[in-house]
Amino acid sequence: MHSYTHSAAVSIDIEGMTCASCVARVEKALLKVPGVETASVNFATERATVHSASGDATPLLAAIAKAGYGAKVTPSTPQHSGGHQHHDEDAQGLRRDVILAAIPTLPLLVLEMGGHLYMPFHMAVISVVPQGVLNLIYFALASFVLAVPGRRFFVSGIPALLRGAPEMNALVALGSGAAYLYSVVATFAPQLLPSEAQYVYYESAAVIVTLILVGRWLEAIAKGRTGDAIGRLVREQARTARVEQNGAISEMPVEQVRVGDVIVVRPGEKIAVDGEIIEGSSPIDESMISGESLPVTRGVGDAVIGGTLNISGSVRFRATKVGGDTTLAQIIRMVEEAQGGKLPIQGVVDQITAWFVPAVMVAAVLTFAVWAVFGPTPGYVFGMVNAVAVLIIACPCAMGLATPTSIMVGTGRAAELGVLFRKSSALQQLRDVAVVAFDKTGTLTEGKPALTDFILDDDFEHDEVLALVAAVEAKSEHPIGSAIVAEAERLGLTPGTVTDFVAEAGNGVTARVDGRLVAVGSQRHLGHLDFSDFSAAIEGFADAGKTAVFVAIDDKLAAAIVVADRVKSSSAAVIAELHARGLKTVMISGDNQRTAEAIARQLGISEVRAQVLPADKVATLKALRQFGKVAFVGDGINDAPALAEADVGIAVGTGTDAAIESADVVLLGGDLRGVLDALTMSRATMRNIWENLAWAFGYNVALIPVAAGVLYPAFGILLSPMIGAGAMALSSIFVVSNAQRLRTVAGSLR
Ligand code: ADP
Ligand code: MG
Repeated sequence: MHSYTHSAAVSIDIEGMTCASCVARVEKALLKVPGVETASVNFATERATVHSASGDATPLLAAIAKAGYGAKVTPSTPQHSGGHQHHDEDAQGLRRDVILAAIPTLPLLVLEMGGHLYMPFHMAVISVVPQGVLNLIYFALASFVLAVPGRRFFVSGIPALLRGAPEMNALVALGSGAAYLYSVVATFAPQLLPSEAQYVYYESAAVIVTLILVGRWLEAIAKGRTGDAIGRLVREQARTARVEQNGAISEMPVEQVRVGDVIVVRPGEKIAVDGEIIEGSSPIDESMISGESLPVTRGVGDAVIGGTLNISGSVRFRATKVGGDTTLAQIIRMVEEAQGGKLPIQGVVDQITAWFVPAVMVAAVLTFAVWAVFGPTPGYVFGMVNAVAVLIIACPCAMGLATPTSIMVGTGRAAELGVLFRKSSALQQLRDVAVVAFDKTGTLTEGKPALTDFILDDDFEHDEVLALVAAVEAKSEHPIGSAIVAEAERLGLTPGTVTDFVAEAGNGVTARVDGRLVAVGSQRHLGHLDFSDFSAAIEGFADAGKTAVFVAIDDKLAAAIVVADRVKSSSAAVIAELHARGLKTVMISGDNQRTAEAIARQLGISEVRAQVLPADKVATLKALRQFGKVAFVGDGINDAPALAEADVGIAVGTGTDAAIESADVVLLGGDLRGVLDALTMSRATMRNIWENLAWAFGYNVALIPVAAGVLYPAFGILLSPMIGAGAMALSSIFVVSNAQRLRTVAGSLR
């Protein structure tokens, strides 16, 4: 297939980012390193992408460590074990801590809350164990919970607080620590407190720690699943290959296959690496790459792609790309890059979360102060409990997860459908697109025209003209050229020697063949000649959607060659569906007006811009902006500037590398249904992000005042810190699970 290039960037896996505010902190630390140009940290993938002058990772790792996080360089080739082990390790460590925290918390909760809910129970307990001894037991249990499983909150929360950069851990440490310290004073120095305030809150301290650990554990499990689409792609890679060496076949790990090796594939086996078939032919299931579910038959000379499945035949192929160069490895890298990217709206979210934690602390202090001064006695006990509730409920976790998890799941699902988002920002852009403009040849049509008619001037001879033209076109990469060369080859004509070859993009080609001047191209290309003898015949072909090119030999019009290209089978249905979704469609083509209009009519495209020179495609696109944002779908080298100019450039994956490099989105199989899928995924993902953000912000906006106690004067409602911890955990889980729903978005017209 083709190769995708990537700008040199260092990718670093980060550990210990517990909340969205950590993202800004790590980014800031990275940007301070000399030579760093850009740094982007993704909370969901736990990965930083850094562009720096030196490309050296060492100072970057040091800067991250200094900011208080773990860091290591991301391994360069996708691993079979999946790229998400550290999520699993996270999940395992958290599971252990949840158990360690839950065991002592449970009796604490039962004894204390049981007594609150049912007085006789309290009496019964007291009659067996006096209150003083009971408090000592509580103290021991809570101390264990905070010091062992809860250690993580204090170890990173307290230094962060001291640095003046409090984060999520600081909130938990402050909240549970305050409840704990108050209880310690009430236990060991009760004389410091008035008699009506001598209560202990050990159970609050322990339950907060336990519930937040439960929330993080569930979140780690869900995050691990978020990257599943990539995991699946990674698993599509073959593990071994049967390589022919000196006549014998030996099975070897796929990592050892070299370019040029001959690989033998039996029915039902995976194609190990990219290559070209040298013997045999077989139907091959390429759905993992293209999203196209029907198998395609590949024979000698055809390309095969590593990771696809050979269904029934047996083939031998020569390896052309191995290791990190294979199409699959490149796709994985591209999807990972897009998944790690940030949408424009994320910038706003990051800014909000950066001031959110300090703001919550101020709110907690205010809560304490207001209750201590104006609250019912014991004022500072109410103040302490409510301030703790505010600290605990206001975790900005869900906010931090809202955008990145949706992007991960959305781009992953798109990749499964054969749509690669090279730039995740295209997800946001595409939603607002009003016009979809298509290139004609190779995009709406197959791009494999065949010669259908040959109209000759009486002074010339057919085979001679065709041989001359084919000689020139052999040097052109244009599909029309290929059609002419193919026909000459079929007739067994021998091409002459070509000199002075000049290609004029969008117009035609000119060269000398054995001394004769041969020019082939559009009417415009041969503008000074008289076409009147041909025009009547040509119009009929044009109205049938066929393209005529003209041949001038030694400046005399010699022939018109007519080629016809089939439209892709899905094109018309895709155009109809785009119209049904309220979008405007436009065809932009270098071909002549009549031909372009005929094809547009066949497909139902509403507007045609024909005879557009490659250089003018950009201007044409700009003019289309009057209708709104424009997406452009194209495949050729001549489409590259337009792909870059469009608000969203969509490259057909069967097209040229230049087109793919300039695009924001790549349709892997070349199937235009991918345009619909890209639009669907964009809308679904953006809706999902808004749902998540609305939930995360709404939850905080609604519950912080409740936790602070604003409902108390009127309704007597207070939110216990324990409920706060539960609600906080639930809100993160809601966000991550909501993003999972994107995995089931259906492909279009399938
Ligand atoms: P499209 O937009 O359909 O992909 P191009 O811009 O590539 O078309 O080409 C526009 C026109 O220029 C063609 O329809 C053809 O008339 C002429 N042309 C370009 N290259 C060649 C070539 N190598 N041989 C003959 N004609 C050519
Ligand atoms: Mg084209």
